[in-house]
Parts: sequence; C-alpha cells; structure tokens
Amino acid sequence: MSQRFDTLMKVGIKKVDLTSPVEPIKAALLKDRIDNIMLLQLKFSNLTKGKLKTLTVGVTVYDKNKNQIGNELTHKYILDSAKVLKEFGDREAIPVPKETAEFDVRVISVKSKTSNDWDVTLNGDRRVSPRLKPIKELPADLQGQLKKEVKKLSKGEVTYQAYEENNYWVCSCGRPNDTNENTCIRCGMKKDLALNYTDETYLRNKLEVPQRKNQEQQKSKERKNNAGKHKLNEVLKPIGIGMVIGLVFISVAFFLLSGSVL
Ligand SMILES: [Zn+2]
Repeated sequence: MSQRFDTLMKVGIKKVDLTSPVEPIKAALLKDRIDNIMLLQLKFSNLTKGKLKTLTVGVTVYDKNKNQIGNELTHKYILDSAKVLKEFGDREAIPVPKETAEFDVRVISVKSKTSNDWDVTLNGDRRVSPRLKPIKELPADLQGQLKKEVKKLSKGEVTYQAYEENNYWVCSCGRPNDTNENTCIRCGMKKDLALNYTDETYLRNKLEVPQRKNQEQQKSKERKNNAGKHKLNEVLKPIGIGMVIGLVFISVAFFLLSGSVL
C-alpha cells in the first residue's frame, strides 16, 4: 500500500471456527490519510481448495475501553470463481468507525462453485481459541526425537504440540478441528499421528528405547566378562592350593634335613 495508509495494527486471528471452510488468518487496521477514515483489511485462507464465489463476514468493533461500537458490520467479498484462491481478501478493506481499537471477525457464509455452500446459521458459531504450545519449547532431546518421527510423515505441518479437548483437537499446525474430523482440514495431518508424535511422554519413551538397548548390551557384555573371570578363578584356585601344599611340604623336608645338622 502507498503512503496514503498508515498501518495502526497488524494481528493474527486467534479464534477459529471448527466447521467453516474459509478461515480468517490475518488482519490489519489502517488509517486512510486522505479521506481520514479507518479501514479493516482481512486475509482469508480457503481450506476447501475449491473455487469460491462469495464470502460474507461479520465484524464487531470495540473502542479502547473494550466497549462495542454499534452493531456487527457485515461485508461480502465477491470472488473470482474462475480460479482456486488459496489466500485472498487483502485487496479490499472494510470501513470501520474511527474509534476502533479492537475487532472480532467471524465467517457468516461461504458460497462455492465446486463444493457445498456453508452457512453459520446451519452449522452454528463454533469458534475456539487454541492454546498454542510451540514445539520449540520442548526440551532439545525431545525436539531431536520429534524430527526423526516427522521424517516418516508424507504430509502435515509440525509447529505446535497437538492436544485434544472435549469436542475438538488441535493439530500440530495450530488448527483446531472438530472431534469427528480424523484429518486436519488445514494441513492434512492425521489426528492420531499429530497427537502421538508431539506428545512428550511418547517422545521420551521413543528416546529411551535406544538408550535402554545400549544399556542392556553393555550389561550383557559385562556379564560375559565376569563369567570369563569366574572361570579363570576356578582354574587358578586349585593351582594356588597346590602351591601352598607344595611349599609346606618343601619346608617340612627342609626342617627335617636342617634339623639333622644341628
Ligand atoms: Zn493441521
């Protein structure tokens, strides 16, 4: 954008709807210097990989004291349905009140050329805010083990630790998915793999298996060495006893011989 606009705020979207085929991913609050108005710019990701016709969103805005300003605003994006848009929306902006300091965005409906239409009134507003636990925060040895596990994957993103809640699970890409969904609708990762691979206990066990094997090999080596020593002792012992008896015998003989001299 040119100098006409000042970016007041750039944020990622924290709330994600479990069933909506389009998700808002980024937002920026802009100030138009020429018209002296505020604009909200949104960027969306198309999870269906299909051709979309329209997207309608609802935007609720708040002032700096977190008081809602007016009613929810709705905005309809008319999309180029001739092609598959993976990410879109950031070429247009929604006018918002000048006092806007915070905002909340929800998807209201998605009309598609290639897949089923989606409507929040039929599916319900099922937005959740996942707690994101970055993989980088895991201990270094577990991160190393996780890298080995990830090599086995054909698809899926691993940035966060996956976890499960009552009615949804959060994928290792950070996307919450409905409990009934066995594959992440954002990155294609399988639910059980994501939950397994990024679980600390699983990784710790995997890490300890080779260590345990090494320890066992070491122990069995020691046992073999000890057994060898034991055998040698058994051979040496009679030799020792024989030597003692021999020495006593020689001493007695010597005593008898020398005694005769005195
Ligand atoms: Zn995912």
